[in-house]
Amino acid sequence: MVFEVAIGKDRYYGCSECFLLYRDLETASMCEEWCASHKSCNSDITSKSIGYVKFSRRPELSIG
Ligand SMILES: [Zn+2]
Repeated sequence: MVFEVAIGKDRYYGCSECFLLYRDLETASMCEEWCASHKSCNSDITSKSIGYVKFSRRPELSIG
């Protein structure tokens, strides 16, 4: 399932397969569907990612 991450006042949506973050739920869902069925990432989708999340004590956003 796509997860939602709140960082400051912003909310992002993450693919639970590859942990890339997107600004919109729709793209995150597309990524997750692709990742789950192909076991790899689609570069057309991942190019829209704004970063990935590292889970430590607080979700931490890494841009890039
Ligand atoms: Zn993904």
